[in-house]
Amino acid sequence: MRVIFGGTFDPVHIGHLRMANELSTALSVEKVYLMPCFEAVHKKEVGASAGHRLNMLNLSLSGRGSLSVDIREIERGKPSYTIDSLKDIRKEVGDESLCIVMGTDSAKSLSFWKGVAEFATLTNIIVIRRSTDEPLEINSITCDDSLLALGFHQAESITDLKQSCAGKFFRLDLSELDISSTAIRESVQQKKSVRYLVTDAVNEYICDNTLYCH
Ligand code: ATP
Repeated sequence: MRVIFGGTFDPVHIGHLRMANELSTALSVEKVYLMPCFEAVHKKEVGASAGHRLNMLNLSLSGRGSLSVDIREIERGKPSYTIDSLKDIRKEVGDESLCIVMGTDSAKSLSFWKGVAEFATLTNIIVIRRSTDEPLEINSITCDDSLLALGFHQAESITDLKQSCAGKFFRLDLSELDISSTAIRESVQQKKSVRYLVTDAVNEYICDNTLYCH
């Protein structure tokens, strides 16, 4: 099973690393791939260049066998649309199970994503319930409805997900650390320490390259 955890990672923080690690354990997969976008189409403010964001990911993941970086969106060098990456990855994995990971907020707004009509033929979706989400019942109903309307079916288990090449969704409840890249960028700008919110190597990299100061 190929598991892809996409994001801006501006910068990557320990909330991301913890989530990716919990995913690899919960799904019993050898690797989870963190896929940084070149340019997020849905975010106005991007603090660091794609090159810096990639360097920080590589620094954070070095020596962590279960986490890897998927650099295809950065290599493509154009605004990143998930549909393009899904088509690319599908060619690579053949009929192996492919899963993209997203929060319930993204799952609910999926119908607005470019090329979404093809998603169910290309990928499965793992929906992570964030601790900041609305109560479970309201949340999962809206989320399930929007995925069902897009042609996805609920997977019965992780085994079912692993055996399905595409077209299934599965909800996972994982713990979430109260850390965001936005808060990190704001702290750096206010000259506050971000030590222990990012890895030591990323903390040094931010200082050495005077990122997020302006
Ligand atoms: P920003 O604050 O700039 O919006 P972010 O911290 O939410 O950034 P992203 O790069 O947008 O990070 O997120 C990449 C993925 O990581 C998304 O799927 C998001 O839901 C998830 N994520 C973000 N923060 C956390 C966290 N603290 N714990 C677990 N997952 C997280």
